[in-house]
Amino acid sequence: MTAAEADMGGGVLREHEPMARHTSWRVGGPARLFYRPAGVDDLAAFLAGLDPDLPVLMVGLGSNLLVRDGGFPGVVIALQGALDRLVRVGPEGFEAEAGVTCARLARAAARAGLTGAEFLAGIPGTVGGALAMNAGAFGGETWAAVTAVQTIDRRGVLRWRDPSDFEVGYRRVVGPPGEWFVAGRFRYAPGDPAAAQARIRALLARRGATQPTRQPSCGSVFRNPPGDHAARLIEAAGLKGTCIGGACVSDRHANFIVNTGAATATDIERLIRHVQAQVEAAFGVRLEPEVRIVGVPS
Ligand SMILES: Cc1cc2nc3c(=O)[nH]c(=O)nc-3n(C[C@H](O)[C@H](O)[C@H](O)COP(=O)(O)OP(=O)(O)OC[C@H]3O[C@@H](n4cnc5c(N)ncnc54)[C@H](O)[C@@H]3O)c2cc1C
Repeated sequence: MTAAEADMGGGVLREHEPMARHTSWRVGGPARLFYRPAGVDDLAAFLAGLDPDLPVLMVGLGSNLLVRDGGFPGVVIALQGALDRLVRVGPEGFEAEAGVTCARLARAAARAGLTGAEFLAGIPGTVGGALAMNAGAFGGETWAAVTAVQTIDRRGVLRWRDPSDFEVGYRRVVGPPGEWFVAGRFRYAPGDPAAAQARIRALLARRGATQPTRQPSCGSVFRNPPGDHAARLIEAAGLKGTCIGGACVSDRHANFIVNTGAATATDIERLIRHVQAQVEAAFGVRLEPEVRIVGVPS
C-alpha cells in the first residue's frame, strides 16, 4: 500500500493511524493498520483475509482504552460509525449493532416507552464496548437486558449466542475465546416515555455535577474493590490533584485521571501505577485498573 489510506471493499484501511484520534483520553501511538469496515459482511471478509499472526484490537469509541505511546503493532478495527444499525425487535426489544452508541440506544428505548436503558445515556461508548465491559451505572448493567449477542471470529464466522455462553460479572465478561461482538439484542421493561426521558436528563445532570466531563478522561480508572469505592480510597490517600506530566488525578472525582492538555500515555500509565502504589501503602488494598491498557511503550 503506497497511500496512507486505501478503500477495501467499502471499508477504509489506514496505516500508522494515531490512536490519540480514537481514544477519549486523546493519547496513544499509531496503529500499524487501522480499519473501519463498511458493514458486517465487509468486516467478515476483512477478517477472513487477514494474516493470522497479526494481532487484532476491536474498538468502539476508545472510552475505556489506554493505548501506549509506541502504538499498537497490529490492526485496530473500529466499529463506531461502521456497524450502526439499530432496529426494534418485538414490543420490548432492540437489536443494536456493535458500533451504535450507548446514548443512541438509551434514547431510542426511552422514546419507545421502555425503561431500563436510561443509565446507558451517559456512557460515552458503543454497544460493543458496553457488551465487552458489562458497562454499568446508577444500578444498571448492560447484560441485565441482553437476550442474545452476535459474535464474529478471526475467520469471519458469525454466530448468534445465548447469554448463558458468557460469564458476566462486575465490569467483566468472559466468553468463547477469539470472538468479538457485532450486535446485541436487548429487552427492556414497559414504561413511560416522558418518565424515561426525564430519568435520562436527571442522570446526565448527576454526572455533570460529580464528574470532570469537560476534560479528556476514560471515566473511572480503577474497579471498585469489594465493599469499597476506589474514589474514596484515592481521595483518602491524599491523591486528588496529583499530576505526572500532563496527567492529573481529577479534583472533581478521584477515580478519574484527566488529560490536562499535553499528557502522554506514559504520563497516564505512570500515574495509574503511582496511585496503585500509594493506595496499597496506605490501606493495603491493591486497586485494579478497569481501563484496558494495550500496545507498546514508546
Ligand atoms: C466520561 C466517561 C464516563 C464513563 N462512565 C462510565 C460508567 O458510568 N460506567 C461504565 O461502565 N463505564 C463508563 N465509562 C467507560 C466506557 O465508556 C465504557 O467502558 C464503555 O463501555 C466503553 O465502550 P467503548 O465503545 O468506548 O469501548 P472501547 O474503549 O473502544 O473498548 C473497551 C474494551 O472493549 C473491547 N471492545 C470494544 N468493542 C468491542 C467489540 N465489539 N467486541 C469485543 N470487544 C470489544 C476493546 O477491545 C477494549 O478491551 C466512562 C468513560 C468516560 C470517558
